[in-house]
Amino acid sequence: MPAVAMSQIVGPASAAGRGVGAFNVIGIEHAEAIVTGAEAARAPVVLAISQNCVAYHGALEPIAAAVLAVAGAAAVPVAVHLDHATGEDLVHAAAAAKIGSVMYDASALPYPDNVAATARVTRWCHDRGVWTEAELGEIGGKDGVHSARARTKPDEAAGYAAATGVDALAVAVGSSHAMLTRDAVLDLDLIARIHRAVPVPLVLHGSSGVPDEGLAAAVTAGMTKINIATQLNKAFTAAVRGCLAADPALVDPRRYNAAGRDAIAGEVTRLLGVLCASPGEHSFPPGASPRTPWPGTPRGDDGA
Ligand SMILES: [Zn+2]
Repeated sequence: MPAVAMSQIVGPASAAGRGVGAFNVIGIEHAEAIVTGAEAARAPVVLAISQNCVAYHGALEPIAAAVLAVAGAAAVPVAVHLDHATGEDLVHAAAAAKIGSVMYDASALPYPDNVAATARVTRWCHDRGVWTEAELGEIGGKDGVHSARARTKPDEAAGYAAATGVDALAVAVGSSHAMLTRDAVLDLDLIARIHRAVPVPLVLHGSSGVPDEGLAAAVTAGMTKINIATQLNKAFTAAVRGCLAADPALVDPRRYNAAGRDAIAGEVTRLLGVLCASPGEHSFPPGASPRTPWPGTPRGDDGA
């Protein structure tokens, strides 16, 4: 099936109190692995392309085309999302590339400026059928500094959602981006209070630093979309490192990338089991079944 609208994944999950896993892509191996992991879990999933990922590739279009193609071949519902766009040009480029969901991040701006810019971008996106997420209460870690002290106020969140018209709201509740340890302590009472105050689904950023039980508790308290990046990169890199260490003569990138891809797929399946209490309850088209996306690890160079 082609990539689905974010509302088709987040809407039912929010109504049912389930979590949705949103995983950041870096290369095409990440996209393949995340979809394979979601198919094994029989759960829908979000493939996120961040502004930093676009900067790494030097352009949005090639990675967007690859990710949309992987999403379109999946046996489970997959939405493709632009993550943490701080510039409106990138939002416009995402819509042109047929990405149906964006996060516009004006969280570094003072509150009135964040509201004004986000409301403008949200109107532009809604005119084109693009789902829009924004952030209130700057979530730390993107600058490498792990400050998990920022907190979103429930009444301010309610006013922000109403004033901007966003479809989902990322809030600061104790997590921080790019954490290598999983010991962040979320403010579950604050999540519950924001959830009661805000009518749109809530998004947890920096979820890699939260242990499994904290993620499950966050979903129970009212979080829906759970963004995970670093946890997958830890799995990928550990597998690649192990593969290279085990065979110093190895030069074929397919061999070690395949090891990293397998590691991501397994971790995605495991995490979706934590986030989606009953992942098997999702509905799928008749006859849909997980595919075998790659036939196996190549045994050697193919002579080229
Ligand atoms: Zn984030």
